[in-house]
Formats: sequence, structure tokens, C-alpha cells
Amino acid sequence: MGGPCEARAAAQSRALRLLECPAHVPQPHLSKARILAGRQCPKRLWLQCNEHSLATPPDAAQLAIFAMGSEVGERARALFPGGVLVPEPPHAHAVRRTRELLADARIAAIFEAAFEYRGVRIRVDVLERFADGRFGLREVKASKRLRNEHIYDLAVQHFVLTGAGVDVASTQLIHVNGDYVRGENEIDWTEFFARIDCDAEVQQRLPEVRALVATMSTVVSEADSPSVEPGPHCKRPHCCEFWDHCTGAKPKDWIYWLPRLTPKRYRQLRESGYTRIGEIPDHVSLTAIQTRVRDVVRSGRTFISDGLFDALRPFEGAFWSLDFEAMNPAIPLYAGVRAFDMIPFQWSLHHRDGRGNVEHMEFLAAGDADPRRVACESLIARLAPSSDPIAVYSGFEGRQLGILAATFGDLAVPLRAIARRLVDVLPIVSKHVYHEAFGGSFSIKNVTPALVPTFGYSGLGEVQQGSGASAAFQRIARGEVQPESIAKLRADLLAYCANDTLALIELIQALRELVSLGAAGAD
Ligand code: SF4
Repeated sequence: MGGPCEARAAAQSRALRLLECPAHVPQPHLSKARILAGRQCPKRLWLQCNEHSLATPPDAAQLAIFAMGSEVGERARALFPGGVLVPEPPHAHAVRRTRELLADARIAAIFEAAFEYRGVRIRVDVLERFADGRFGLREVKASKRLRNEHIYDLAVQHFVLTGAGVDVASTQLIHVNGDYVRGENEIDWTEFFARIDCDAEVQQRLPEVRALVATMSTVVSEADSPSVEPGPHCKRPHCCEFWDHCTGAKPKDWIYWLPRLTPKRYRQLRESGYTRIGEIPDHVSLTAIQTRVRDVVRSGRTFISDGLFDALRPFEGAFWSLDFEAMNPAIPLYAGVRAFDMIPFQWSLHHRDGRGNVEHMEFLAAGDADPRRVACESLIARLAPSSDPIAVYSGFEGRQLGILAATFGDLAVPLRAIARRLVDVLPIVSKHVYHEAFGGSFSIKNVTPALVPTFGYSGLGEVQQGSGASAAFQRIARGEVQPESIAKLRADLLAYCANDTLALIELIQALRELVSLGAAGAD
């Protein structure tokens, strides 16, 4: 088994090739991925097969997730000594090689076994041979638990395998063991993974899968895309890559953008004939916040509650703004860490004194060791001498400080003291202010530019969002960034995090100015 950097680089390369493989370009065949996409939405399946160029390309963070999934799949092969890997496409070659390996009783397991039945192509993560000549179907997921879509995933593979003549004795999901804690040395892969028997659930889904395959075969061959209105189904179980294409012509007050809208309520509003928020009449029951959004959309006037003044009292004098960046890799990088544990690696602080002067401080770990302790110590050194309140935007920083205090007992007192000073601005905004340009979202990236038109997020480098920061730092920590590119990537990380805390300073100032405008109903 190669080192983590080699494995990661190989996994990334495979993930990129996967995007170019027949599952991702227009081809009139079905695959496991396409059937699962079609189960989510027949239009998504049709577009994948016929108009894939309309998809939004995956960003760096999504590519990192694909690569992590590939790496986890490869690491699971360590559970099957003597297994043989089937080469990558063309599919017909892989099917032939799989047949040869199936016929060779000395082969204990086949990795990426290739099959085709009724026009559905699959690659099986692991086909485990039993002494009685039957086989175990094993699907590997970078997940801590079994999800409904995993059962369908296994059921599609079971359908194809049995159709292709393979005697499937059992089906299992091999997933990440959430209780495994990495030790000081290399990961123990037999402990890292856990197995769940899924035979009963898969058998239950088989009739549905048979029907799905028949339906999807028809959808793929149709001349035109099925007519499907975008909605909550586009995000579950996965965000659809055609979202931008399908929603590009929607009005700014599309009802989908009502905050905290449940799928059921969205369906009811649609069935009642409403497509725009402004069209929803008074007699239709909405939550308080949805009613506020509708009223602002109708009037075009910003909502400011009478309670905003009191809510902003913590920021009357000097205050800080704080933002963490963190990563949660499936494969833990450091001793004492579990899969998907959140690891803060960066913070940014802005301090605004009583006269309006703003000072910036920041920390970004080197990437060569567990960053948590040094991140805590540097944060304490900056914040402990002050008693000024600390603005954050969401409960994330407070939760992380609590976890860090539990992890580093000797730092618990100052970390908890910092946590007690946090003031979350997100609920202040969502309760007391709504501007039409929020577009139904209270994300700081929507709220700040709406209230501070001169503030923007353009000009940032490679790192444009939190998930991108996580992906970028993981690449540094894994040694995947060329030495000559590290300084630029670190500068982009620092710029991104600093922009968020500066945004919070500007946002609080804008909120204070709204209060000074006086009564509710300001434009
Ligand atoms: S965005 Fe929604 S409606 Fe459009 S193809 Fe994807 S899932 Fe279907």
C-alpha cells in the first residue's frame, strides 16, 4: 500500500477520470450512478445522458469529496488480502477481465468487478468469493452510517449481478467506523472500517429497482427532456448538478426561496398555483419569518424590528469579530482523531475599538501537524487580555470552542471564557431585519452585500467558500501542493477568512446605522 500522498493523488486522478467516464458524458446506456440520479429526478438522468454540458462543473470542494470517496474505497481493499483489481474502462474489456477472474477460484476477491445486464453497467467495489463458490457484494462508502440511498445502490448492483449470473450470497455496506480513533502510527484499516449486512433491505427494494430500470431505459431514449419543476427534490439525496440550468430563469421571489420552507409546504404552495412569493395572499398561512419576507417582497421596504436596538447593545463599545475555518476529513490525519472529526486550522479576528479603528489578527496552521492546540493557544493569547464581546455569525465557533475545551483540559478555562463572550449575529439579523436582496437567505454572504453594497466577495483567490478552505488546507496538510504554490494558496486562505470577519464588522456597523435611521419601514 502506498503512502497517503500517493493514494490521495491516485484517488484525485481517478475522480477526475470518473467525471469523464461514460457515467458522466452523453451515452445511451444506464449505469448505477445514472439509475440513482434518475430515481432522484428523471430529468436529471435525461440531462446526464443527453445534455451533460448543461451541468455546473464540480468545484474544488466537490472534487475533494469525490477524491476522498475514491481513497476510502481503495483503502477498504486492505480488508481483502489477495484481491485483484479489474482495470478501468473501456467497459467491455473490464467485463471480459472480470469473467476471467470469476473463473479463477484462487482469486479471493475482485475489486471494481465490471458487469452489464439489461443495458445497466456497474463496477462493484468488492466481490468477495466464498468457499462454496458464491459471492459477497460489498459496497464501500465514506460515511459513518447506512443511508437509504446506499440500499438502492446495493439493490441496483444486486439486480445486475444476479442477472449476469453471479450467485450473490450476501450484501454488505462497508462504511467508516465512527468509533475508531487514530493511534500514533499508521491507520489500522481493519479497525477503521465496519460492515453492515443489508440483505433484507436489498431484497425489499429489488422489485422497485426492476421497475426503475425499465422506466429509466425509456426516459434515456426519449427525444426530449422530461418536464420536471425544480424543488426540494433537487437537493436530496444529492445536490443536482443541473440546478443552475433548471433555475436560471426563476424570478428573484420564486417561492422556493421562502426561508425555512418544508418540502410539504413548498408542494402545497405550488399546488395552490403560487410561483412567486409576492403572489401569496394574506389568508395563506405562513410562518412569522415567511410572512415578513412576503411583506418585504410586496412592499420593497426593508423590515427593521423595534428590538434591533436592544439586540445590538453588546456592540455599543469595542468588540471583536471571530471566524474559524475547519476541516473534517473521512480519513483522520492526526493521532487521537476520529473520522469526520472537525479540526479547526485557521482563525481570523478583527477588533473594532470604541472610536471605530479596526485592527486585524489571524492564524493559519503550518499544515505539518495537528493544528488544534496551537490554534487554541494563539487565540487565547489574543483574546484573554480583553473582555470585549466577540461577534460570530452562527453557532459554529461556540461549538468548536466547547469541543476544544473538552479535548485540551489544560486550556479549558480560557477557551470556555472566550466562548461565554460570543454573541451570535445570525439570529439577530434573522429576527430583526429583512432586506429584499437577502433573497430568502440569512447567510453572511447574502446579508452583508445587501446592507453594505460596497462590500463584496469578488477578488478572493482560489478559496471562495468554507468548503473550499477546508479542501485547500487538506491539500497542504497531505503534501499535495507543489512547494512553489503553497505561499499563494496560504495567502488565499488568509484572505478568505479575513474577509469574513471584516464582513461581520461592516455588517454590525450597517445594522447600527439602520437602527439610527429610526422606525421600521426604512427603504
Ligand atoms: S435541478 Fe432538479 S429538476 Fe433539474 S434536473 Fe436536477 S433534480 Fe431535476
